[in-house]
Amino acid sequence: MSRSSTVREIAAAAAVAAALLCAVGPAVASAARQHPLARRADGSSGGCVTATSWDYMYLEQQWPATSCKNCTENTYFTMHGLWPTNNDGSYPCNCESTPFDPSAVASIRTSLDTYWPSFQEDDQSFWTHEWSKHGTCSAPLYTSQLEFFKGALGARAKYDLYQALASASITPSNSATYQASDIEAAVNKALGTTPIISCGYHNEISEMGLCLDKQLQPMACPSSQPQQCTGEVGYPSSYN
Ligand code: 5GP
Repeated sequence: MSRSSTVREIAAAAAVAAALLCAVGPAVASAARQHPLARRADGSSGGCVTATSWDYMYLEQQWPATSCKNCTENTYFTMHGLWPTNNDGSYPCNCESTPFDPSAVASIRTSLDTYWPSFQEDDQSFWTHEWSKHGTCSAPLYTSQLEFFKGALGARAKYDLYQALASASITPSNSATYQASDIEAAVNKALGTTPIISCGYHNEISEMGLCLDKQLQPMACPSSQPQQCTGEVGYPSSYN
């Protein structure tokens, strides 16, 4: 179970609106990060919209040690999602009704198990949720669930946050802390865009998001996507 505190930060009205409009799949006792645009800094909700167009992709990766009690020490971030997003702070969701089909992604099942595990419910519920809410809106970039999951995993591998941080000697530690600005600079230098950092309890990095253009090239996040976690942050080597 994640211990992130970010849920508390979600403006109640925005959360209710987003939940009513967007919720699919099982409810989870989540402490993990909501779509960033469901909780803009001014308290308003970017919210999901019933359109199918989008401006950029938001690649959200999770740091296992912050959220996962039973994980062994990791040398990679895992997937949360690849989210079609609009510059104005809205995002399309639940664009069509094709259900998640495990057999459609059987050929990449090992990669999904490794790089897209769930830290809350079972993996398949997580994939179902991500496909229904976000993947169904990923056209024209992806037109099938295999393409969507494959593409998302490929983006995760290409934008390797662990390596980006390691190349600046920022390595997981249960004792050291880092300045969020140094983490931003390290990722920007290695991957070409400044990450949006989300933190959980103890101000530990729980997730990092990258803005990618329609060709999945790095781009600066729009102002509707503000930084979430600043100052001194933890990057734990194991759950603590
Ligand atoms: P989104 O709905 O935009 O994809 O992301 C927010 C949701 O993802 C939250 O409801 C949160 O509970 C869920 N989430 C984040 N990490 C995990 C996870 O590891 N497993 C599952 N099942 N849900 C997660």
